[in-house]
Amino acid sequence: MPTYPTGKSGQLLLEILPSKMSGIYVHVPFCKQRCSYCDFYTGLNTQLIPDYIEALVAELYKRKEYLPDKRIQSIYFGGGTPSVLSIQEFERVFQGIRDIYRLEPQAEITFEANPDDLTKEYLQQIKSLPFNRLSIGIQSFDNEALQGINRRHTGEQAVEAVKTAQQAGFDNISIDLIYGLPGQTVDNWRQQIRKALRLDIQHISAYGLTYEEGTQLWLQREKGLLQICPDEDMIAMYEILINELSRKGFEAYEISNFARAGYRSRHNSSYWKQIPYLGLGPSAHSFDLSSRQWNVASTQQYIKALRQGGDFFEREELSLRDRYNDYVMLSLRTSEGIDGNYLRSEFGTDWESYCLENIKSFIKTEKIHVCNGHFRLTKSGILISDHIMATLMKV
Ligand code: SF4
Repeated sequence: MPTYPTGKSGQLLLEILPSKMSGIYVHVPFCKQRCSYCDFYTGLNTQLIPDYIEALVAELYKRKEYLPDKRIQSIYFGGGTPSVLSIQEFERVFQGIRDIYRLEPQAEITFEANPDDLTKEYLQQIKSLPFNRLSIGIQSFDNEALQGINRRHTGEQAVEAVKTAQQAGFDNISIDLIYGLPGQTVDNWRQQIRKALRLDIQHISAYGLTYEEGTQLWLQREKGLLQICPDEDMIAMYEILINELSRKGFEAYEISNFARAGYRSRHNSSYWKQIPYLGLGPSAHSFDLSSRQWNVASTQQYIKALRQGGDFFEREELSLRDRYNDYVMLSLRTSEGIDGNYLRSEFGTDWESYCLENIKSFIKTEKIHVCNGHFRLTKSGILISDHIMATLMKV
């Protein structure tokens, strides 16, 4: 659900896109309830939704020159909780997008939802919009675990939501799962994966729990109220994840993302490939190849600025070093890895040498595998990926 998947952009020239086109991310900063692990910018005041929609549409027109290419290959409504919006509100945003951009025939258009919002009636209405991919925030099927992180749905509702979506005609469904929840055992995690695999879905994003400073869960940990999952269990859970999913035909195309053939997320991939994207809404990030910018993380300030013509974003130019760091960090997360040719042509021989010098020891210890000029994390490399990335990046 990130507004800008932190540290998730990068450039790989892969099979999906003939050229760079563009992507659009729409941040819907509302939730009905705060999950205790979440540090995304969202609020509970859904009365702001009508004003937010007006501001969003105003931002669309105001920034209509931002993307260098008007052909759109992916749109992602994330949050927050996009499933708090009505069909009419979505239609208003799509109308604005269509006025300015050209949606490619194969464009991936994702709708992120919480399971308990996905009623039969709502899904049928959503199906009448251009959405062709659904991303459901399930996190766990275990009711005790869900309560522990203050999710507002049950495991049963999660299963029901997927089935109802399939009946409504969605045939490209992704679910999010979290492993390493407080008190979770390795065996419990195996059960979660197996439940997920019984749902006949096309994509799974699975993240190890992190305790983000300032969240409720972080506070609970500080007070010693939680049973923290040991590192060795986290490693075992990740290994189970890879093994169980690959046995069922899911490709690990990125450290946390797994897809059946033909179902890699274009939205996710566009961050890793450094495809320009326009981020709309409070706290959303944008990237235009040479700079990054991010909107104010306050829905009220965002609405006010769009209404009255004030500033609503900050911007930074990207240096060659920033772009090198982004590329190394993000490409290494993918199954394609770092492309040596690209590294040289895009960043020059000095940066190439810097990377090669630092990567040597990881090749020697078989944490990195070299194949056709690509440097890829091995299974054991994935387990220390943060350390490898930090070594290859330049501060
Ligand atoms: S519903 Fe999503 S965005 Fe909202 S608090 Fe929970 S995890 Fe965060």
